[in-house]
Amino acid sequence: MTFADVAGMETVKEALRIKLLLPLQQPELYAAYGKRAGGGVLLYGPPGAGKTHLARAAAGELGAAFVNVGLSDILDMYVGSSERNLHATFDLARRNRPCVLFFDEVDALAGRRSDMRHAQTRQLVNQFLSELDGVDQSANEGVLVLAATNVPWYVDAAFRRPGRLDQPVFVPPPDAAARAAILRILCRDKPLAEMDFDAVARVTEHFVGADLKGLVDRAVEAKLQQSISAGRPIPLSTQDLLAAAQTLRPTAVREWMATARNYVLHANDSGAWDELMPWVKGKW
Ligand code: ADP
Repeated sequence: MTFADVAGMETVKEALRIKLLLPLQQPELYAAYGKRAGGGVLLYGPPGAGKTHLARAAAGELGAAFVNVGLSDILDMYVGSSERNLHATFDLARRNRPCVLFFDEVDALAGRRSDMRHAQTRQLVNQFLSELDGVDQSANEGVLVLAATNVPWYVDAAFRRPGRLDQPVFVPPPDAAARAAILRILCRDKPLAEMDFDAVARVTEHFVGADLKGLVDRAVEAKLQQSISAGRPIPLSTQDLLAAAQTLRPTAVREWMATARNYVLHANDSGAWDELMPWVKGKW
């Protein structure tokens, strides 16, 4: 998978290219300015908008290995094991460079350290930060850390210091053109009639990628049943997608924007969420 499999999101792709891809592709240029390949990006946005999809595509675009770390893989109930697991994960990435190391729901790990009741959690967070920093300049060369969260405001500011996840990148909900493009990608390997994806995009306001995937799955299931009764494959039509859209509601964008608006308007002293300002001011 590469960026060609990610519909829309041109600004997000461009930000990742500059931060991740170009330093690996043109190391001399970056070295001349004293910059090295490595470091991390914090992808944030509403659930289902495509953060995981994008991270996987970034790895493909780079020709890099992709390691997807669920926090349940790391958080171990035995004291000390979690830190060992985390270290082993970073080591795996270092042995396979270039490598994209993807941490989903990083907020579970990176919740404000001051809130942390358990010394154990604090230790794990400190371990994560020191792995990000690396023992020396070259420790994490070629290891690109992407982390994703739906609740960026819970991620401790220590995670966003230079050299760590220092570049928050907003993964927005798709606009109509992006929704049509996502639908086209989701349908591309299926038997299709002539499709009007724009018509479907128009009736799926506030749907994110994951919602659209659910929509296509539902339409395909209905079509499969018809095809079984008919004894031949019947191509998927625009009408099928429109019918499926009627039965579904978008999941989370509106609520997410409402929460985001609170943080952007009332808790944005550091300017960390400036990028969200035009979005939360929109109509949701
Ligand atoms: P998140 O990690 O933000 O919760 P995911 O990356 O899991 O969301 O997205 C859910 C699904 O939606 C993906 O598996 C993918 O099939 C689809 N999807 C989301 N965004 C896009 C996109 N821009 N282009 C194509 N498919 C997308």
